[in-house]
Amino acid sequence: MTIAINRKSQLIINENAVYHNINQERKLLDKDSELFMVVKANAYGHGAVKIAEIAKRAGATGFCVAVLDEAIELRKAGFIEPILVLGLTDVNLINLIQKYDISVTVSSIDWIKEANQLIKENNFKNKIKIHLALDTGMGRIGLQSAEEVKKFIGQFEKMNKLIDLEGVFTHFSTADSDDSSYFEYQRDHFFEMMNEIPNRPKYVHVANSATSLWHDLTGSNMIRFGIAGYGYNPSGNLIEPPFELKPAMSLISELVYVKKVPEGKSIGYGATYTTKNEEWIGTVPIGYADGIRRELKGFNVLVDGHYCEIVGRICMDQLMIRLPYDIIKGTTVTFIGENQGKSILMQDVADYCQTITHAIVCGFSERLPRIYQSN
Ligand SMILES: *Cc1c(COP(=O)(O)O)cnc(C)c1O
Repeated sequence: MTIAINRKSQLIINENAVYHNINQERKLLDKDSELFMVVKANAYGHGAVKIAEIAKRAGATGFCVAVLDEAIELRKAGFIEPILVLGLTDVNLINLIQKYDISVTVSSIDWIKEANQLIKENNFKNKIKIHLALDTGMGRIGLQSAEEVKKFIGQFEKMNKLIDLEGVFTHFSTADSDDSSYFEYQRDHFFEMMNEIPNRPKYVHVANSATSLWHDLTGSNMIRFGIAGYGYNPSGNLIEPPFELKPAMSLISELVYVKKVPEGKSIGYGATYTTKNEEWIGTVPIGYADGIRRELKGFNVLVDGHYCEIVGRICMDQLMIRLPYDIIKGTTVTFIGENQGKSILMQDVADYCQTITHAIVCGFSERLPRIYQSN
């Protein structure tokens, strides 16, 4: 998609905020633990390469991504740190996996059997690094029982030494809840499965942001730090974080057209909004193709220090807002962030859309330029 650099709609990324969030978490970890910054989905929309650079400065010693292509992007940008692909990677991509020295998640015995075969056929010299996923209750990927782990290890030990069991991990599904019972169930299941692994791998990891902020790390030595690194509370507003999370992303645009509309005129597709009085209506060049979700109809933006309602349906590339008075064309419109002492939070937007901040930040499209600021 073309990046619209000649339009004033843009995402502004505060580099210091990202640094702060990662560095604060880094300080809470003990010396032997590592922080891998999760930069999947283009670093949750913040720009993977840029965020990886900041994370490294702030103390991250590795990265997690969702898919192999994201890992390769980081390698091509020059990162030499460990990179773990959290999703499952087709074993037939083993050439790329070894060429770029990427660590991959494994969830079955078949994968290592096939990999072993391919390693022999291709005469690989370098080790393939794998992290074994344990499904302790998330129900997504991973071995499900101690019995399966035992079989996996049995198979693994029979193989040539070109597969390196670099890590073992699990993922908690309720770490952002104020009820810890399911968390504890998963933790116990994790310990039970870990008992079947005789040699502790280099990395044992269990924590996403929520787990790392609010739970004991159950003997692990690496965390997979995602949403909190970008400054968003994984629990929404439910649980207070142990340090201040500074939101990294703002979104602004500008008024490109301002007009006085008589009472009783309709605005936008479907004519769903009708002016109640004579009203000042502003048009803003941003829409759902940029990631402004249609559910945000009726929500506010900030213009000249005033909350202004988004009126009528949000179009693909434009939307309309009701202004308190005639505000001059070219004035900044703040969707997320501060405007003359008032602010709109990413969390407010997520709440209004009945979703989580992860889904909002990932939803901003490539058309919006990402502008990095470090003051
Ligand atoms: C995405 C992901 C994370 C990061 O989660 P946050 O809630 O953003 O911290 C950690 N671990 C796994 C397995 C993931 O898929």
